Amino acid sequence: MASSKKRKKTGQPKKQTQKRRPKLLRTWVGVALLWGAIGGVVLSLYHYLYLNRFADSSYLLSLLAVDFVFSLIAAFVLSFALGKVLFGTPKKRKKRALWSHNLVVALLMAIAVYGFNYWNINRQFNVILIVSDATRADHLSCYGYRLETTPNIDQFAREGIRFENPVAQGSHTIVATPAILASVYPTIHGLTHYRAVLSDSITLISELLKKAGYQTFGIVTNPHLTEANGFGQGFDYYSSDKGWLHTGAEVVNLKFLQVWRRYSGEKFFAFLFYIDPHVPYVPPRAYLLKFHADPDVVITNWHPDSLAALGEGYKLDIIARYDGEVNYFDTEFGNLMRELKRGGIYDRSLIIYTSDHGEGFWDHGLVGHGNSLYEELLRVPLIMRFPVLVKFPKFQLGGKVLTQPVRQIDIVPTILDFLGIEGEGLIFGTSLMPLIWGKKETLEELEYVISEEILQQPELHDIRSIRSGPWKYIITRDFENNEYRRELYNLSQDPAETVNLFEQKTSLAMELQGRLFSELSHLERHKTRPKIHVPDRETLERLKALGYIK
Ligand SMILES: [Zn+2]
Repeated sequence: MASSKKRKKTGQPKKQTQKRRPKLLRTWVGVALLWGAIGGVVLSLYHYLYLNRFADSSYLLSLLAVDFVFSLIAAFVLSFALGKVLFGTPKKRKKRALWSHNLVVALLMAIAVYGFNYWNINRQFNVILIVSDATRADHLSCYGYRLETTPNIDQFAREGIRFENPVAQGSHTIVATPAILASVYPTIHGLTHYRAVLSDSITLISELLKKAGYQTFGIVTNPHLTEANGFGQGFDYYSSDKGWLHTGAEVVNLKFLQVWRRYSGEKFFAFLFYIDPHVPYVPPRAYLLKFHADPDVVITNWHPDSLAALGEGYKLDIIARYDGEVNYFDTEFGNLMRELKRGGIYDRSLIIYTSDHGEGFWDHGLVGHGNSLYEELLRVPLIMRFPVLVKFPKFQLGGKVLTQPVRQIDIVPTILDFLGIEGEGLIFGTSLMPLIWGKKETLEELEYVISEEILQQPELHDIRSIRSGPWKYIITRDFENNEYRRELYNLSQDPAETVNLFEQKTSLAMELQGRLFSELSHLERHKTRPKIHVPDRETLERLKALGYIK
């Protein structure tokens, strides 16, 4: 009796299931497809909203297509499996089962999309701004130097955006560094000697990022950039190491890592200013030998005039020492990158590498820096490595070389634009993001590039230059004879600036001069007044050791 009842009971639904299965299957397939489509749209929209502030490049479209297909498949599988497993055999309550299914799928999908995006998208970017002092671009192998001085920076450049023709706004640390940190021209900040203090009305990138919730650290090893000079503005931690005569790059790395570990856990901005390869060119002995410098030659006075007085006979040895310094810095640069990778912050950081100015080796009869506006002093390296924006599919900006001339004053606006932070105060540069994304081929703002060397100490200098297309015009005030020297060069035909075309092309030179003067008179209106401080004995000793004062 029991067995026949059982048979009866099991027999009936079996028949019904057979009839229902194709219909039910169709229902679940239909519902799953709908959810797949919704999932695809939601995920694509999420990524679009996140990424569109960075650009509207072709990358974005392909990324969204991948997003859509990926989540269509994922949501379809999820919805179908759930439908089959949980509600595969609904009886009378079929409608209710469909509603329950939809509710569960919606909840799971919301959790999945949120979780996936949380894991997939890097929202908290750190910013690490690395400056090596006195580094002329053409002594880096990635900028075409004949010797392999910078294997680590070369590797970094391959992963990032390398600017082939960056132009420094000045040729001396205190003149050019505010251009990097605050997007201002030398005329605006007016710092012309080691006692000058940056005005409070100039806003450093550290101040803007601190306001935006960043921890800010500055570690500098040039005595022109102390807190007393006003460069500590906006930094939670600022170290200017005035106690040491020469602080090697490994010390800056060590200090940074200590500070980073102490503050670790929050997004941060780090400004790391390495004195290498500035004079004195005294890297560890192995680096001198590697570039065939004579380690037994002892140079006691590193002031540019004293070096120039040694004569060109010392040129090769001096350059070999300099290359050793560049190579030593590169090794430490590589060590820092390895530490950043180990700490899990390499891919989560916008890392920018540049220099304040270059260095001369008798190129125009001059040695050192701060004494001209020729290319050996103005062409600095500039490489930006962007963080990984999306982990899957991996999406990052990099591997490009951009040849348009760009300026130091463009670094701050680019950082702000990338992070989506509003700038404030005096900002004279423009964001390079449109060039980086390939949205624009050229930027109107970069049509004329101005540089200035206005120094009162160690020597009086008043030099200005303007660059437009291949043309570069330089006007130098000769204080001794109370007159002006004018030079015009065609950089594409004569990159070493050996033939002054001023006499042949006077009207073009005058046109450039007119433009230069009108830009400068516009800048004059925003000029700030630096205060004066009296440096202590230690700082004076360091300035002397670095050849800044006699
Ligand atoms: Zn410098």
